[in-house]
Amino acid sequence: MEGKPMNRKPKMTRYTKKHFDFQFPDDATCLEWLFRRFYPDGTVFCDKCQKQTKHHRVVSRPSYSCDYCGHHVHPTADTIFHKSPTPLTTWFYAIYLMASTRCGISAKQIERETGVTYKTAWRMFKQIRMMLDDENGAPFGGKGTKGVEIDETYIGGRRRGLRGRVNLEFPDKKTPVVGVVERGGSVRAYATLDTKKDTIMGIIKERVLPQSTVFTDDYCVYDDLKHHRNEYTHHRINHSQKVYVVGNIHTNTIEGFWSLVKNGLRGVYHSVGKPYLQSYLNEYSFRYNRRFDVQPMFTSFLNQITKRDAVVRSAPAVQEPF
Ligand SMILES: [Zn+2]
Repeated sequence: MEGKPMNRKPKMTRYTKKHFDFQFPDDATCLEWLFRRFYPDGTVFCDKCQKQTKHHRVVSRPSYSCDYCGHHVHPTADTIFHKSPTPLTTWFYAIYLMASTRCGISAKQIERETGVTYKTAWRMFKQIRMMLDDENGAPFGGKGTKGVEIDETYIGGRRRGLRGRVNLEFPDKKTPVVGVVERGGSVRAYATLDTKKDTIMGIIKERVLPQSTVFTDDYCVYDDLKHHRNEYTHHRINHSQKVYVVGNIHTNTIEGFWSLVKNGLRGVYHSVGKPYLQSYLNEYSFRYNRRFDVQPMFTSFLNQITKRDAVVRSAPAVQEPF
């Protein structure tokens, strides 16, 4: 598979249920983790005192209080835990579960493992996934990189011969998705309205640096790349002639990512709306993009919690299936 390192790289550190129980035995520990994450030295800028002051844990509430004036801060404010009646340990455990699987788990599994209702499990699932957004990551490729593969697919199954068209029989069941992956590097996938030239070229221009070698199949939309010869070196593989690999010309890396996403989604949802699908794609990309990390996936997931802005910005996006 593309991206397999020649030299043995250090593997991702194992983080088991035992580690989890040891690190987060109760809600207070989770809250303390959150507090320390926001305020590493334990001091907080107190609005009332108008300066950095030491804060202490308030026993009866999930908050910390200024040593001088008693003003409260809530470490859960503007995070995915904000105003949630679900205990923090349950949240953290759900995050652990989601981070511990390679191909994703369902809300049903979270319900089973954590003992919350399905509705709650689904909400947690949605919120956790919303933190997993690499949207602002650096663009891919550029001079001297291994090349960038671009491909489109339809979630719900790709139909040969119908590429680029809306499925009139089930117009809502298939959502077009455009993916860009740097060989040996990261992936981004976009749930789009269509797979027309402007859509795909727009994504390429935004995501792929000039001087990149670009690999696609023979879908007609990529013809447009010939107008960008100064920016991209374009190679295409003739999928319609059933040719899949010629030397290093192929789109197997992105196809591998599609299988990962489709296997994960299979049987979980009958129809997936566009915003919902996007958050799924983000989750799969997030995991894929950290596959060579030494830091446990759970730590990467947890660290996303403190991206407060991201959570606040994207909160109302998804419709619930109840
Ligand atoms: Zn104060």
